[in-house]
Amino acid sequence: MNIHEYQGKAVLKEFGVPVSRGVAIHSADEAEAAANELGGPLWVVKSQIHAGGRGKGKFKEAAAGEKGGVRLARSVAEVKQFAGEMLGNTLVTIQTGPAGKQVNRLYVEDGSDIESEFYLSALVDRATGRVAFVVSTEGGMDIEAVAHDTPEKIVTFSVDPATGVMPHHGRAVAETLKLTGTLAKEAGDLIQKLYAAFTAKDMEMLEINPLIVTKDGHLKCLDAKISFDSNSLYRHKDIVALRDETEEDAKEIEASKYDLAYIALDGTIGCMVNGAGLAMATLDIIQLYGESPANFLDVGGGASEEKVTAAFKIITSDPNVKGILVNIFGGIMKCDVIANGVIAAVKTVGLKVPLVVRLEGTNVEKGKEIIRSSGLNVIPADDLDDAAQKIVAAIRA
Ligand code: GDP
Ligand code: MG
Repeated sequence: MNIHEYQGKAVLKEFGVPVSRGVAIHSADEAEAAANELGGPLWVVKSQIHAGGRGKGKFKEAAAGEKGGVRLARSVAEVKQFAGEMLGNTLVTIQTGPAGKQVNRLYVEDGSDIESEFYLSALVDRATGRVAFVVSTEGGMDIEAVAHDTPEKIVTFSVDPATGVMPHHGRAVAETLKLTGTLAKEAGDLIQKLYAAFTAKDMEMLEINPLIVTKDGHLKCLDAKISFDSNSLYRHKDIVALRDETEEDAKEIEASKYDLAYIALDGTIGCMVNGAGLAMATLDIIQLYGESPANFLDVGGGASEEKVTAAFKIITSDPNVKGILVNIFGGIMKCDVIANGVIAAVKTVGLKVPLVVRLEGTNVEKGKEIIRSSGLNVIPADDLDDAAQKIVAAIRA
């Protein structure tokens, strides 16, 4: 689960991490009040969307135009003006895709004078099973580009969960960023606090880009991008409360209501599969035959007819879907339950695209019979390979 920058900074502040003072606002009038409260003389007006690259992003509307989603203001009037230009408009960044995202709230911050900008992030490194830090002098840049062009400028290390952050980790950060004296101490202190926040809140990723040295010689986190492990949300009610559903895929929200493991993708073949492994294999084989999946969907082992119906509705609600592949290996899941669910769904939402169904396993004959006698135009398949070829052929026909 992702949250907004201003929310992320509030979480980090609880752990003593240095961030700027700021106020989240929804209107130009609120922006003016926030600017007065913060006092100036420099303010930053920041679009709050769940995507990075806002500074270099562009608004679709002419009023806000080319000026970007993060702007420095030098008077209260400017803060108000920028807020008016940004709110309600659509910001396109390298991370939003061409459709962009509507900016419905802004974060007005006390502006900092920057001496230098760095990159610092923490993430769960699956290879070592530890939290790893990524540090670079190349702050404020697109870190993927740095990793590609100048990988030697990126330093990573992981933290042993038994010891937590140690003084040598702090020294590694200070050395990488060429910080000495007080700043070196602050670097050690900072990663200690970030690590504490990361582990206490079950974060998946925490990215500070840029981390800055202010003109008066202190470290400060100027940006914060945080995502949390969704599997741990049950024990973080405070984090769940930060969820902004308007930033999420409507189909994924609907799927979560039915406890379906659904991930929206950008291809054209909708998939309904039971078992995560089989679902992954289904995505792979669709690609192998030259098309792309529109989603990942594992309906689970004990799916009810109601759940299958909901899943089918979610798949067909995606306008990119040109064909549907149902691939079920019935173990605990029974093929007749799937068949009934598919038919119930088709009866309510209709079937406007080709549908290939491959059933195998428990009650397979019953399942096939239900589909045959339904009179629906379903293309039956014998195995996964056959099913993938048939759906690809059907959408190309
Ligand atoms: P992003 O573009 O979505 O990553 O948004 P950031 O929060 O990183 O802001 C983009 C850029 O705006 C930063 O890299 C900084 O260069 C600049 N910026 C942000 N806050 C301040 C500030 O307080 N003072 C100054 N001078 N620049 C800032
Ligand atoms: Mg940034």
